[in-house]
Amino acid sequence: MAISAHPDDIEINCAGTLARFRERGDEVVMCNLCNGNLGHVVIMPEELRKIRNAESERSAALLGAEHLTMDVGDLKLYAESEEQRNKLADLIRYAKPDMIITHTPDDYMADHVATSKLVFAASFCASLPHYHLDERGVADVCPIFYMDNLGGFKFEPTEYVDITKQIELKMKMLECHESQMKWMREHDGIDFAETVKTFARMRGLQSGVTYAEGFVQMRGWGRMTTKRLLP
Ligand SMILES: [Zn+2]
Repeated sequence: MAISAHPDDIEINCAGTLARFRERGDEVVMCNLCNGNLGHVVIMPEELRKIRNAESERSAALLGAEHLTMDVGDLKLYAESEEQRNKLADLIRYAKPDMIITHTPDDYMADHVATSKLVFAASFCASLPHYHLDERGVADVCPIFYMDNLGGFKFEPTEYVDITKQIELKMKMLECHESQMKWMREHDGIDFAETVKTFARMRGLQSGVTYAEGFVQMRGWGRMTTKRLLP
């Protein structure tokens, strides 16, 4: 289960790895907590919310993954919100993941940091039978992996995944986010896809392959395992 703040974060940071999970037969759930409604300077929030959800659905379909959204407005995500923690615990109980990939807790913007903290709390709460009872049943406490951030600031991967064969699918998934990619190309002259690909190349250089994605496993009681979980 990959849990990000915004609709394109998963594609930017871990879609190649998710593709490798799919190739080995794993089920993948892609979950956004925010709906991306503030991610444009012209398209109004309610319209953008729908556009971006459809973009995420298309991207997940390319991967053969399920897409979930918590549908919170951008910058309305709070690590201390009990309501949001409960909603996320419900999504985790629905997915019952073997592992979760999410943002690193000192990422560059508030929604990413809140996502990381909510995942940490909700994934524990989801395992307790007497916490916020509902019909989904509990989910096991599972390993959490932090994915890279934009530019890799203060992020030293301890594990790398070779995505050389998956880079084209990753880029296609990223291009599904047309409201972001096309807009930046046409109005800002920024080829964001090139930025993402360049960064995957840099992680590849660090790990001796052409393209890679980097991760750090969250270390803590009940979260560790003796086997490598990443592909
Ligand atoms: Zn984001």
